Amino acid sequence: MTDTSPLWFDPAHCLIGGEWGPAASGETLPLMNPSDGSEICRIARGGEADISAAVTAASTALGSEWGEMTALERGRILTRIGQLVLERVEDLAALEAMDVGKPLTQARADAVALARYCEFYGGAADKVMGETIPYLDGYTVYTLREPHGVTGHIVPWNYPMQIIGRSVGAALAMGNACVLKPAEEACLTALAFARIAIEAGLPPGALNVVPGLGTEAGAALAGHPGVQHISFTGSVRTGALVQQAAGANVVPVTLELGGKSPQLVFDDADLDAALPFLVNAGIQNAGQTCSASSRILVQRGVYDEVKARMAEAYRALTVGPAAEDLRLGPLISPRQKQIVESYLAQGAGLPVAAQGAIVGGAPQNGAYVRPTLFADVPEDHVLAREEIFGPVQVLIPFDTEGEALRIANATDYGLVASVWTRDGGRQMRLAKQLRAGQVFVNNYGAGGGVELPFGGIGKSGHGREKGFEALYGFSQLKTVAAHHG
Ligand code: NAD
Repeated sequence: MTDTSPLWFDPAHCLIGGEWGPAASGETLPLMNPSDGSEICRIARGGEADISAAVTAASTALGSEWGEMTALERGRILTRIGQLVLERVEDLAALEAMDVGKPLTQARADAVALARYCEFYGGAADKVMGETIPYLDGYTVYTLREPHGVTGHIVPWNYPMQIIGRSVGAALAMGNACVLKPAEEACLTALAFARIAIEAGLPPGALNVVPGLGTEAGAALAGHPGVQHISFTGSVRTGALVQQAAGANVVPVTLELGGKSPQLVFDDADLDAALPFLVNAGIQNAGQTCSASSRILVQRGVYDEVKARMAEAYRALTVGPAAEDLRLGPLISPRQKQIVESYLAQGAGLPVAAQGAIVGGAPQNGAYVRPTLFADVPEDHVLAREEIFGPVQVLIPFDTEGEALRIANATDYGLVASVWTRDGGRQMRLAKQLRAGQVFVNNYGAGGGVELPFGGIGKSGHGREKGFEALYGFSQLKTVAAHHG
């Protein structure tokens, strides 16, 4: 750590029961900077022992100060955390830019979103109510919303701050005690957030953070019998493993697993309004966004115009180190670059409408790929079916509304969809018929919308986070039936 380093804490520590310290094994892992391939620092290699200690600490917190707090007090602490996050937006953005490779403007937006989650759930904490239920004569029946208890949060590397905000924020608002396992590729803002939370007065054990490998700390958390709810965001393959592990303990799981989200552009669409969304939803965070829009379905009457205008936008895209704050930074790792390049290779033979450029002087060891727009892509092509998790979009032409709907729904995923049309009837029809957890009409919200319930259908996962809905997910309903004659 040098004086110019944005690290203002020891990154090789876990937080367990309010105490910072190394992993029980003493082992560490390297944390890499995707902009140039250099090692930023070492992080703790948390394992089973650390997860067990964290679960015990969380459980203890539920039986002491944290568990005894009123919803109002929990809300105040969350609101205070949000205020401190806002004061430290630049510090947090610098960490995220270095760790994830996010251009600074996007990293800053994520930090502001983290604050917004804390404010939203801080304000909502004391506004979750039960119901009274008409029942038999002589009874009063009502419901109570109670925390699950210890909640596990397994977070990926693409939007650490936003995902921590939406899952840990909502869980804390409901009075759960959290064990957070950030991604081994990017965990600095998780550690920074925990420091801020403690500074804001969060009692010991309410939030515990154990960095480490997915197969070690992650698997230990997913299968721990002391955990009462798991929230997971990441790949389908790992999500299925997490669900299996939690299933052995009969523990509910929220899974948010990505998608192949389409935007449907009809002949009557306002193309000036649509164009920025069509492109940005695909290349934001270098395409490493669960709700990225990687399929652009365009009606034939405007197909050539949309293709030409998106191509022009692509040719203006620049890719480079996070600190240069261009439209795209590097991918998270050389491994992710390899995955994306293997998809680009499978696109050989398809027309390439346009590509963006990697800026001169970008470090050789950075994980840079050129954003690529493919045209005239058959709907059954691998690039039109599989999640790429890189800056790659495909253009698919269609003739009729029915054909557009069929193509849009023909994937295993169902996270987000959008419809661009001025026809009110078509807007309403497609909003109902599209298989997705969120449908946007004449806009697209990749990753945004703290207030909006978010989650998938099919292989995109199940359960909803964000908005008020998350508060229901992070609590369980108790029915009280009182017989008083
Ligand atoms: P991953 O699903 O393996 O990792 C996500 C999180 O799960 C990380 O914290 C990781 O440590 C943890 N994890 C890994 N194995 C685990 C296990 N056995 N038990 C419990 N936790 C475990 O994702 P990845 O390998 O980092 O990325 C691979 C692909 O996943 C990407 O190419 C992309 O397609 C997808 N992905 C999706 C999202 C999303 O937002 N939906 C985020 C990241 C990655």
